[in-house]
Amino acid sequence: MKQPMISLSSPHMGGKEMHYIQQTFDANWVAPSGMNVDGLEADLTAFLDEEVHVAVLSSGTAALHLSLIMLGVEPGDYVICQSLTFSASANPIAYMGATPLFVDSEKETWNLCPDAVEEAILYGIEQGKKPKAIIAVALYGMSYQVDEIRALSEKYDIPVIEDSAEALGSTYKNQKCGTFGDFSVLSFNGNKIITTSGGGALVLKDPAYKKQAVFLSTQAKDDAPHYEHTHIGYNYRMSNICAGIGRGQMEVLADRVAQRRANNARYQKLFANQPHFTLHLEPNEDFFSNHWLSVVTVSEYSKLSADQIRLLAQEENIETRPIWKPMHLQPVFAEAPYFGANFAEQCFNTGLCLPSGSNLTAEDWERIERFFNKIFSLA
Ligand SMILES: *Cc1c(COP(=O)(O)O)cnc(C)c1O
Repeated sequence: MKQPMISLSSPHMGGKEMHYIQQTFDANWVAPSGMNVDGLEADLTAFLDEEVHVAVLSSGTAALHLSLIMLGVEPGDYVICQSLTFSASANPIAYMGATPLFVDSEKETWNLCPDAVEEAILYGIEQGKKPKAIIAVALYGMSYQVDEIRALSEKYDIPVIEDSAEALGSTYKNQKCGTFGDFSVLSFNGNKIITTSGGGALVLKDPAYKKQAVFLSTQAKDDAPHYEHTHIGYNYRMSNICAGIGRGQMEVLADRVAQRRANNARYQKLFANQPHFTLHLEPNEDFFSNHWLSVVTVSEYSKLSADQIRLLAQEENIETRPIWKPMHLQPVFAEAPYFGANFAEQCFNTGLCLPSGSNLTAEDWERIERFFNKIFSLA
């Protein structure tokens, strides 16, 4: 008989979610906006930094899209974006009719390579089109090199959109991810470290931007008794129900971070002294990752490739997954310029995301460890 599926990352409720949802039913406030929307925004501000302003939205993708809109990106503009990421980081550039300039990753964090970013900026300037924004991703929970990217942003006066969809609970130099960008993006999709089933947030430094984000995400209704519109609006606000799930999840966020980091520690033990396997770890003490997903790379000298290992795991109903396929290798972005070498591609070819849920059981771990011990004898 087939064993139950061990997922890469599945939703993990804390227990209080239904309580917050019940409140919305009791108040008959089953709508976008409402007390849980306000409550979740307050919870996020309290968690991230009292100085920030949070607008909760229908998705992280919506938060990225609104960032580009508020930055005034226009058709034909250039926007710099990390290539090694999920497509949602880059798709909003296409929604705007703008052109992504994709950039390779550096080896320590797997995020934006500062040298390649500067190359992309200079390319844009040479074409008479200085890039309008830099989308910097904190991949798998690991912060990007914030100081280096910030220095480039200041040198060339280009705002940073921080895509921390995967990095809620991570820090860089003791500051929370989600507070580094001019605009910062979080996601509460079903597979993320906490979930609202689907949802996201835009984290802003300026209350005027929060006001604008709420305005645009609720159909851009001007102040009038009838519906008056001077702007194109979007239906991007988070629902009060989803926000209720989020309020319950915020109560267990610290536990979820601890659990995912404990997974990573367990993988460190498992892969210790395995010359063909390298776990992706924080490069130094400036970085604290939530280890949303634990990720390993397989050496070229291993008899089994990452993909062969993935297929063997699948036979045992253990889910693993390749690293995000870089955007510059995606057919849909084939025309977009690319800057850097082939590190992102190398990660894609040799990497494997491991089961990383905060709800893995002792039996799940037994199966995972038994599976990899078998792989070690074959690799
Ligand atoms: C999940 C994710 C997003 C998109 O968030 P949604 O809430 O699913 O729209 C954006 N960027 C990255 C890196 C992600 O992992």
